[in-house]
Amino acid sequence: MEIQISGVKKYYHSEGKIIKALDGVNLTIPANKIFTLLGPSGCGKTTLLRSIVGLETPDEGEIRIGDTIVWSSEKRIDVPTEKRGLGMVFQTYAIWPHMDVFNNVAYPLQNMKLPKDEIERRVEKTLQFVQLEGFGSRPATRLSGGQQQRVALARALVAEPKVILFDEPLSNLDAKLREETRKELRSFLSELQITAVYVTHDRIEALALSDQIGVMRAGNIIEIGDPKKIYFDSEHQFVADFIGRSNLLPVTIQEQGKDFTKVVSAIGTFTCSKREFPAGSEITLCIRPEFVDLIDPADKGKHQNTLTGRMHTMVFVGEVYESEIMVGDQLIMVKVDPDSKVKEGDEVVVSIAAEHCLLVAR
Ligand code: ATP
Repeated sequence: MEIQISGVKKYYHSEGKIIKALDGVNLTIPANKIFTLLGPSGCGKTTLLRSIVGLETPDEGEIRIGDTIVWSSEKRIDVPTEKRGLGMVFQTYAIWPHMDVFNNVAYPLQNMKLPKDEIERRVEKTLQFVQLEGFGSRPATRLSGGQQQRVALARALVAEPKVILFDEPLSNLDAKLREETRKELRSFLSELQITAVYVTHDRIEALALSDQIGVMRAGNIIEIGDPKKIYFDSEHQFVADFIGRSNLLPVTIQEQGKDFTKVVSAIGTFTCSKREFPAGSEITLCIRPEFVDLIDPADKGKHQNTLTGRMHTMVFVGEVYESEIMVGDQLIMVKVDPDSKVKEGDEVVVSIAAEHCLLVAR
């Protein structure tokens, strides 16, 4: 089911100040996809999620789930949480330690007062789906963190909701388990015809899990796109910076060509992939470290966008050296092959292909 959020505002009042947690959010969350709300702490992700669920009451706007208006300030509609047909998985596992796995998962169905055999059938089916078949009688506390998270997922899925919402569900797991659970979750969700809304401030999680990402800043969605679009082709400096390590250089436009844009920075001119900006715009050139290529100085004339500098730092992190080159008084981050002969202090020449010179709004 599609979720439509129109003009949603939520203000908190704290110590005499107004905090604009949601500042007029307009957003369509597509049906049956994994949609992630990504942004730094305090940008309003949880407030938006809780407003969809009905655990938070916005001040203005309208929220629709499928064809149903579940909240509207103008029409004075406020459908209670339990009637919105949603499943939820939160940061704390929220499983009940005094119950076994079966009863944890069965709880929503028991609340709906379904017949006992129907509950048994649906719980078994769901436990099978999350690969916890045969765990029904196990006390919920005698499970690993990852298994507990799957119990929480099973409980959210057992009533067969059309929409499932996640608020940082993996943040209590260690790094390795988080990565495994993320993969599992993606494959579980892809198998179901379900709309998933996922909140995280972890960019890798957002990239790995989502069909679409909505990046939030200060109570607003500022950009929406699939993970590759958000990473390689973002439109705002904030997004480019938040989603991954990048070199950000202030530039001014020198020339708009047919299929390129030429810009000037403090360390030289760059030919960039074409992007139109209004005359006089103050913009930023974003270059990902992985696209800065070390080249043979003798070949300098054969390459585009070359820079000459000195290798400043080289930190070996396993797959690569995370390095910095000093060009003028600007440090440029670059990834260097682990078998490279280059050392700190060497003079180096790098080149960046125009297609990897991304111009973004500040
Ligand atoms: P995090 O990633 O840290 O959970 P978030 O993006 O989910 O952050 P929210 O929890 O939605 O952000 O908070 C948005 C803003 O509203 C923040 O400035 C926060 O301090 C404020 N806020 C949230 N809840 C309340 C509250 N009950 N009273 C006052 N201010 C609040």
